This record gives sequence, C-alpha cells and structure tokens, in this order.
Amino acid sequence: MQAYIGGIVPLSTVDWPGNVCMVIFFSGCDYRCPYCHNTDLIDFGDEHIKETKDIKKEIMKNSGFIDAVLFSGGEACLQRQALLVLARFSKKIGLKVGVETNGSRPYSVKSLINEGLIDFAAMDIKAPFEEEIFRKATKSETFFRKTKDVIADMKQTLRILKENDDRIEIEIRTTVVPGIVFRKEDILKIAAEIKDIECRWSLQQFRPEKGTLDPELKARASPSKKFLEDLKEECIKHYPNLRIDIKAS
Ligand code: SF4
Repeated sequence: MQAYIGGIVPLSTVDWPGNVCMVIFFSGCDYRCPYCHNTDLIDFGDEHIKETKDIKKEIMKNSGFIDAVLFSGGEACLQRQALLVLARFSKKIGLKVGVETNGSRPYSVKSLINEGLIDFAAMDIKAPFEEEIFRKATKSETFFRKTKDVIADMKQTLRILKENDDRIEIEIRTTVVPGIVFRKEDILKIAAEIKDIECRWSLQQFRPEKGTLDPELKARASPSKKFLEDLKEECIKHYPNLRIDIKAS
C-alpha cells in the first residue's frame, strides 16, 4: 500500500508530552488555515508517495529508542487505510500510538478507537463552531463541502472523543491569532464546547516567524503570553474544571 508521507522525525520528546515518540507526517490537508506553517505538507505531492512497508521498516528500526508513534500532518485522517495499517503495526510491536487531527474525519478517528489503536488524540479546534469565523480561520469550504458540513464533522469527532475520554488521553489545541481567533467571547465559545470532556486544552501563540500560508499574516504580531494568560483566567472563571496550558514564549 502507498501513502502520502511528507516527513518523519525519528525521535521527539516534545510532541507528545511524557513520551519519546517518532512523528510521521502525512501530507495532504483539507483545510487551508491562513496561519499554517506546515505549508509543504498541505498538498498531496507525488514526491511524498511512500510504500507503507518502508514506513513500517522505519518504525521497526527506531522501536528500541521510542515508546510511541505519533501520526501528524497535514491531516493524517484523510488517508484512513494507510493510517490504520501503520497504527496496527505500531501497536503490534508494543508501541503506544497517537494521532493529531483537525477533526474533519470522524470516521477515521472512530475506526482507530474501535480497534483500540490509539492512546492519545490531539484535536485542533481552530475557531468557534460558527460559519463565518470558522470559514475565516480554516478556509476549508469547497464547492463540494460547505462550512456547515465541516463543522458538523468536527462536532461528531468531538463527540467520539468525549465518549472515549476515560480510555484515551485527549488534548484540544487552539491557536490564538490576532484578527482571526483572539476575542474573549470566541475563546469562551470554544471553552463551552469542551468543558465536559476530560482533556487538557492548549492555547497556543500564533508564531509568524515559523512561516504562514497567507503572506499577509507574516507581518502580524504574536499575541503576548500575558494576553493568553488573561484568556485562560477568563475561561477558568466560567469553567473552573478546564485544564488549560499556555504555549507561548
Ligand atoms: S494548520 Fe490547517 S492547513 Fe495547516 S496542516 Fe493544520 S489543519 Fe491543515
């Protein structure tokens, strides 16, 4: 079987807290977030086509040094079959498995969970589930797939995660981007969506120096750490049970 794989980090201690993991980056994404810095992973480029058996060899080669494999992207869940094949292999050789997703493919997440293949899921919630701001933050609408349908899929993924929050570690991630998703009321709407899920929520700082898909965003300033801490405080005031991490320098 073939898969679009844009890159592999053999050993990481930062991508999955508490684990030494290998990170496999699937290429191809159904979103076009203006602040995306993984721009070379957005498209399904022919140069990224790999045999899954070769990826398995890479995992095996590193298995003595890692305790987990993390599937990232792009959007790994777009390539459901290849993702399942590699997750099954990783589990079979005794490694933990995690997936990072934008939440647009609930069926893939459900398959991974139903087969008992994942220990960790990190899901981006890039904007409140309202069409105008979600469209602006993700640019995911196409002629074939309207924003309301993408939002419905994300809500379904979130429901699936909530139903399984007692057996998998869940992280929700939101990037705070000035001019797009930064207002207190928008962050509170996201908080309301996740308040009943057993998870940690990472509020991440927009970092233009890492690169942006939309060149206009390059000149936009990062929100300060204090700005993010104030958002956190406001969320905790409304939803004291939330566990919020600030990711900012
Ligand atoms: S930031 Fe957006 S466009 Fe970039 S890989 Fe993630 S979901 Fe896709």
